[in-house]
Amino acid sequence: MHEYDVAIVGGGPIGGFIADKISKKGFNVALYEEHKNIGEPLKCAGLVSSRVFDIVDVKKENIIQNSIKGAHIHSPSGQILTIGGDKVHALVINRSMFDYEIIKQAMESNTEVFLENKIISAKKSEDHIKFRTSKNNKNIRCKLLVGADGPFSTIRKWFNFSEPTEILKGIGAEITNTNLDPNFVEIFLGRNVAPGFFAWIIPTNKSGTKARTGLCISPDMSNFTPKHFLLNLFKNKQFSDFFKNVEITKRIGGAIPLGPLKKTYADNMLLVGDAAAQVKPTSGGGIYTGLLCASHCITVAEAALQKNNFSQQILKKYQKMWSADIGKELNRGMRFRTIFKNLTDKQIDKYIEKFQNLKTIDIISKYGDIDYPSKLAIPLLKTNPSILKLLPKTLKKNKGRKN
Ligand SMILES: Cc1cc2nc3c(=O)[nH]c(=O)nc-3n(C[C@H](O)[C@H](O)[C@H](O)COP(=O)(O)OP(=O)(O)OC[C@H]3O[C@@H](n4cnc5c(N)ncnc54)[C@H](O)[C@@H]3O)c2cc1C
Repeated sequence: MHEYDVAIVGGGPIGGFIADKISKKGFNVALYEEHKNIGEPLKCAGLVSSRVFDIVDVKKENIIQNSIKGAHIHSPSGQILTIGGDKVHALVINRSMFDYEIIKQAMESNTEVFLENKIISAKKSEDHIKFRTSKNNKNIRCKLLVGADGPFSTIRKWFNFSEPTEILKGIGAEITNTNLDPNFVEIFLGRNVAPGFFAWIIPTNKSGTKARTGLCISPDMSNFTPKHFLLNLFKNKQFSDFFKNVEITKRIGGAIPLGPLKKTYADNMLLVGDAAAQVKPTSGGGIYTGLLCASHCITVAEAALQKNNFSQQILKKYQKMWSADIGKELNRGMRFRTIFKNLTDKQIDKYIEKFQNLKTIDIISKYGDIDYPSKLAIPLLKTNPSILKLLPKTLKKNKGRKN
């Protein structure tokens, strides 16, 4: 029977990054990806902070398409709040190329990469995990199984981990013939635009003629499909200037899990990235947060491999490490999300109105950080204490109550 030190389920950026680093230390690593081509189908808008490239060392020239300095936020009634504009706040990446470069590095570090090879069963057996794949009917063994298998992780299900609090449905497209300010993303808010979340247009080149657009919805807030809302966005007269004469060159789909799991380890098992819902609840971005957690997964996996001990007692350090690092920020993000989901369109309009002053815009530009949005909360409240009055009534009633 074939045996690996580590088997990784999922050839996304998180699985690929973990495979590369552990292989480099000389361990025997296998990575399984159910699709034929890495990075396809596309399930991402590709907006990240430069911190991603502090973690992953890949050739940026092939990956970075554009840089973003600010955002135009469109309220439900059509007001526009412009924030940023002074410095680069985010980078637009070619996500397929990003994933591809990470997996290429893993292969160069001797990870055995199996494409079009789905893990179809896995179970704990004595001191290891036994699994089967769609291309191999015989059991394969590993000492440590890493579930990096995305939002609908079957590893999470098979090993009885809890589920994320909610899973957003996403849709989008790559478009051409746009006429955008290349330095700004456009964000659209409102229950008729994207119930429970938002829609976006992200310019993907320096002339503003190409972009990625899309939206996510909260399934518990609408019976309509994401496609219904995307078609509405394209048809919406208020936004017609953005979509006039555009052509769709590629479709984007996907799901975003929110509400990080309270337990992400078991004997011989670790869950990482979207599989563990290590995603920013305010923006749906999961590349930076997933990679950050992956770096802790690597540290703990390597320690377990050195000790040849894969018990929960050893592996639980992973949970401690990522929780101390980004867990609090993700939990704060879930609290902001509860507030946001409870806002009516009128309340969103009132917030945007309140923020339309130079002092607030300055604060947002100074403290706004796409990876750590909570850093903005206190300075924003200090300059605008009256925004607390806009909190939905239900949340005010619960204020002070412990959940
Ligand atoms: C519409 C949309 C827009 C987004 N935009 C952004 C953004 O702008 N910025 C950002 O940071 N994040 C964004 N995200 C989130 C980001 O895409 C994810 O957080 C990121 O992909 C997580 O990486 P991962 O490796 O954990 O999971 P994934 O990228 O989902 O990779 C998991 C892989 O596992 C494979 N797999 C699953 N089950 C099996 C199995 N049984 N056997 C073998 N293989 C399997 C899947 O095919 C997949 O390739 C967006 C998501 C969506 C849906």
